[in-house]
Amino acid sequence: MNEVLQLPRIAIGALGGTVSMKVKTPGEGVTPSLSSDALLASLPQLADLALITAQTLHLLPSASLTFVQLIDVLLWAKSQAEQGMQGVVLTQGTDTLEEVAYFLDLLWPYSTPLIITGAMRSPSQAGADGPANLLAAVQVAMAEESQGRGVLVVLNDQIHAAEHVRKVDSMAMAAFSSAYFGPDGLLVEGRVRYLNAPKPRVSLPVPERLDQRVALLEASLGADTSLLEDVAGLGYEGLVIAGFGAGHVSQEWARCVQQTSQRMPVIVASRTGAGATALHAYGFSGGEIDLQRKGALMAGFLCPRKCRVLLWVLIGCGREGELSRWLSQR
Ligand code: GLU
Repeated sequence: MNEVLQLPRIAIGALGGTVSMKVKTPGEGVTPSLSSDALLASLPQLADLALITAQTLHLLPSASLTFVQLIDVLLWAKSQAEQGMQGVVLTQGTDTLEEVAYFLDLLWPYSTPLIITGAMRSPSQAGADGPANLLAAVQVAMAEESQGRGVLVVLNDQIHAAEHVRKVDSMAMAAFSSAYFGPDGLLVEGRVRYLNAPKPRVSLPVPERLDQRVALLEASLGADTSLLEDVAGLGYEGLVIAGFGAGHVSQEWARCVQQTSQRMPVIVASRTGAGATALHAYGFSGGEIDLQRKGALMAGFLCPRKCRVLLWVLIGCGREGELSRWLSQR
């Protein structure tokens, strides 16, 4: 049989981000410029590894991606999996990569690997990491052991689960980390090595509604309650609070949580960047025991940003009644 026909088929969708950014006007900084074909041109060795189908889906900084656009990205990725691709790779900006990965992971029903990668250094900088990350992402997408693991984030030769990974550094090459859980796997000399077995996965249907809004507010020292009081009046249908420490707020905020939780789901997560919220340790007003009595749900290990994604998806599917079950597993 012709060797080319035996190569695995991998689809790559480009969304923009630093991995695709170049200086167009000297002195003006980098902006998304490279199409999927231009990305592939930086990595000619991919052609020996896989039969690549590549498409430019967006050319955006990742801060400007929307849930509505991401539903289209999901549908595109699903169509690639349904056409028999062995794996699907998305390239995008790293700023919102953890949220996009979790969003798609909640909605990804297949065992086909869906891999997301990006770059911390643009192609205009010395030591650009985009080509190495893209190569690693394709290698992970091709690996048989990647099946059934949902959406994976591949950067800096590490493979992270969508649920746990966070961007923890604004500029460093090692910008992504999964605190406590660690990476799920590594690339060692181009070989994919998983450190744990895949876990059972449950996915949600594509949301029918797309117009729901979920607010995310961070607790901070001495903060007033004006924004918090306005959440329901402004038409939000859910609220996430990035609380202090193990999931705490001030007494004044706690009073607002009680009022707001009568009108919409309220989740309290931790603003610390690592670790879980408590459930029954602190007895003060604004502590987690008080907040739960006032109707809030505690986030567990799920970070505030991913709580917002989860609540948005559940409301969109008409399944917000399942929120407590989803959070109790996190
Ligand atoms: N550092 C970000 C990136 O890696 C900035 C731009 C973006 O997120 O799109 O892509």
